Amino acid sequence: MLKGYTYRLHPTPAQAEFLLRTIGCARFIYNKLLEDRIAIREEAKEGSGPRRKPATPASYKPLFPFLAEADSLALANAKLNLDAAFAKFFAGTAGFPAFKSRRRSRASYTTNNQRGTIRIEAGKVRLPKVGFVRFRQHRPFEGVIRSATVSMTRTGKFFVSILVEQDDAPWIPAKNKVGIDLGLEHFAVMTNDAMVSEKIGNPRLLRKSEAKIKKAQRALSRKKMGSKNREKAKLFLAKKHEKIANQRKDFLHKLSRRIVDENQVIVVETLKSKHMMQNHKLAKSIGDVSWYEFVRQLEYKSRFYGRTLIKADPWYASTQICSTCGIKGEKKAMDVREWTCACGAHHDRDINASINLLRLAD
Ligand SMILES: [Zn+2]
Repeated sequence: MLKGYTYRLHPTPAQAEFLLRTIGCARFIYNKLLEDRIAIREEAKEGSGPRRKPATPASYKPLFPFLAEADSLALANAKLNLDAAFAKFFAGTAGFPAFKSRRRSRASYTTNNQRGTIRIEAGKVRLPKVGFVRFRQHRPFEGVIRSATVSMTRTGKFFVSILVEQDDAPWIPAKNKVGIDLGLEHFAVMTNDAMVSEKIGNPRLLRKSEAKIKKAQRALSRKKMGSKNREKAKLFLAKKHEKIANQRKDFLHKLSRRIVDENQVIVVETLKSKHMMQNHKLAKSIGDVSWYEFVRQLEYKSRFYGRTLIKADPWYASTQICSTCGIKGEKKAMDVREWTCACGAHHDRDINASINLLRLAD
């Protein structure tokens, strides 16, 4: 199977300039080829003669000599990307391909490994036409490198995402089952089949940092259009956003990885977030806690490690049912944290829900 590994690159100034130029060339050729495809469509509409073949990156090299300096595979991949965008358009799954913009589009290019043109040696990654670039390989991998995508963030950091062909990971079964209740009080409350419950606190990172972001936004709005200070304020804001996104991702990855490591069967509730988002006070927390991303990670990690992920029916009344006697009680308001069933069992709202979800594992 193919797996991607992303690492931070630390290019020299000259390498950074070359990477940036290649990203620019890939974008340039993408736009040129798109222009050509649009022209062909116009010509066909006017019915002027037989339909000509679309241009290729090579068609533009004589006109624009700077393209010859770039990694030609990056240009070829730009064409493949455009072809894929058109295929999606014709299949009706996406709109008409849009031109790439220096400001708005993702700044990246993809190149391929041809017999070791991309390889890792002594803590550096070799990229075609660039040579060996210093990088931080926090996670090693085994397998054959297929391609590499170099990208640059808005704050000017470079990353490389290496696509590797790997043997399927051997599935080592885990022994536990777990039910996971996602909440607002806590990010998640879990109970496993040894009846051990755990509450995972809410990382209200976004909300905590929101004040800082608002401040940065206000500062930006006061800066004059097109001024140097405006650019600086923009960069500052982008850095704040980047930091929060990274903190959140880190939290979710660690948690989902641990759950998949420890459990063979994982039951999680299906999110009724559309319904809940109507309540604005809740909406912010939900955005914060990133349930959607969490379930997505559980899904693909379960697939990768051979786990069974069960998504409970959205109408499964996990909070209403008494996990001791199984009788479905009345609906419970958001602020009811604890309750006692007619059978005498006293419940913590979220732990009870996670036990009910766990029951679906059998
Ligand atoms: Zn009961």
